[in-house]
Amino acid sequence: MRMSRLFGETLRRPPAEAGSAGQALLARAAYLRQHAPGVFSYLPLGLRTADKIKRIIRQEIDAIGGQEVRMPLVQSASLWDRSGRLREVGDDLVQFRDRAGRKLVLGTSHEDIAVELARSEIHSHRQRPALFYHFQTVFRDEPRTSGILRAREFEMLASYSFDRDEAGLEIQFEKHRTAFRRVLRRLELDPVLAARAGVGLAEASDEELFFPTDVGDDSVATCDACGHTASRKVAAFKKPEPEREPQRPLEKVATPDADTIAALAAFLQVPTERTAKVVFFSAASRGARAADGAPRELLVMALVRGDMEVSEAKLRLAANACALRPAEAAAIRRIGAEPGFASPIGVAHEDLLVVVDDLAAATPNLVCGANEPGYHYRNVNYGRDYGADVVADIAAVPAGASCLRCGAPLRLAAGIELASLHRFGSAAQALGLAYQDADGSLRQPVLGAFGMGLGRTLGLIAEVHHDDAGLRLPASVAPFQVHLVAIGAADADILERAEALYYSLSAAGLEVLYDDRDASPGVKLNDADLIGIPLRLALGKRSLEQGGVELKRRSGPERWTVSAADLPSALTAELEQVESA
Ligand SMILES: [Zn+2]
Repeated sequence: MRMSRLFGETLRRPPAEAGSAGQALLARAAYLRQHAPGVFSYLPLGLRTADKIKRIIRQEIDAIGGQEVRMPLVQSASLWDRSGRLREVGDDLVQFRDRAGRKLVLGTSHEDIAVELARSEIHSHRQRPALFYHFQTVFRDEPRTSGILRAREFEMLASYSFDRDEAGLEIQFEKHRTAFRRVLRRLELDPVLAARAGVGLAEASDEELFFPTDVGDDSVATCDACGHTASRKVAAFKKPEPEREPQRPLEKVATPDADTIAALAAFLQVPTERTAKVVFFSAASRGARAADGAPRELLVMALVRGDMEVSEAKLRLAANACALRPAEAAAIRRIGAEPGFASPIGVAHEDLLVVVDDLAAATPNLVCGANEPGYHYRNVNYGRDYGADVVADIAAVPAGASCLRCGAPLRLAAGIELASLHRFGSAAQALGLAYQDADGSLRQPVLGAFGMGLGRTLGLIAEVHHDDAGLRLPASVAPFQVHLVAIGAADADILERAEALYYSLSAAGLEVLYDDRDASPGVKLNDADLIGIPLRLALGKRSLEQGGVELKRRSGPERWTVSAADLPSALTAELEQVESA
């Protein structure tokens, strides 16, 4: 590929929206352009790299027995309705109608269609275990996007397994764990942590492969003593012992302007662990139905101690609710509570579900809202002053927490979830998936869903593999193997030799990006550093005087001259070096 014809220009400065260092470099090096928040165009360099990432994933999933298919981007909403996932996924799911009025969705994932396919294709026990996968674009209307690392539109690998029983699913988990680790090693994104992603301590859990990095907006809790590792949003932890003291009489106090926990604790001069934090969500119930048969819309009031945060994942499970949305002030007032000064005291409504964290319920004499602007109660006690529909662990792991298994301190680390392994039961059941077993009986297969996003992976590679001058991509995914720069291309002799070299390298099967532009050596060499291809060849007057072409690795400062005769073997040796790095 000639740089003079390459579609996409390198930029001297990153565009305003580029958040992380890696994304800024991907933009400057003409790999990506952001079209809208979390929505990207891939330029030729970016697409070549994305295709190489995809090829590596494909090889590894093929190696564990996967067969590639492609399921559609646009899916029928009725399928999602039958499995209940229409409500589960909530506002992340974009829904629309076609011209005939049929309801459609833009898939956020493909479990429902995978089950539908399995139902049409798998009839007998002889056809299992079945494993098929695809690459497809998904759109998730996330409330928070952080560039390429948390995009709204992205291509992902999704692989779906159908097994006879839980033991078969375990094998699929192990195979995918190994395959994903191999992929990430080949992308030079290792080591990764395998973190539990399911609430609770049950043996079988969903999992995530997690790359620790400060740019990530996920986090993971790890116990260095016993090895227990879990996504922070679901991790269990040992709650501190609540104070032991007698219940004191309820006392209403004026707390003007104290509508945050910090302001309240400062104003009343109490530690935050002696206050209660109340957070409201709206959600459709999974279990309860309204009169018309539709799932009941609930207002979920979650109460944790002021020194903790609500874990939405734990709360969803405790409340048996679909996707949680922040509740509107009007909905909060409708049940008799006051935003900023809310508590369960004296409020009751048929649509209200009160979920209290087990530690908050056990802590005596808390400061709690009085459901009246500017007022709180002191000495609020669970059981005496308020009750709950559910008491459960709904708190996210705070800093300084201890391991529930062994009591050692938990370490919290920021990072990025790169791959997910999911146990999926209910969709198969809801969609009536069954096959005939050897004894003639009808059985339901056990479904596993495994995913990995391509854009996020590319973003993280750029984040991990760069220096001040630009990208420094692993040879496995760099868009080209060799960056050939003609220094002084205005000189007919140099241009002629560079052209000849470009043709011979290409003819030898190498992927060459050839800078044939009429630009200054500084501009060209800076662009080569920015684009980050592992090997650079510079051909100019000076290198010719020294007897050939100057060779340099992107990863190091050394440069040396190689004669035309030695170039093929030198390049082969260098490529072996950078590819095995
Ligand atoms: Zn532990």
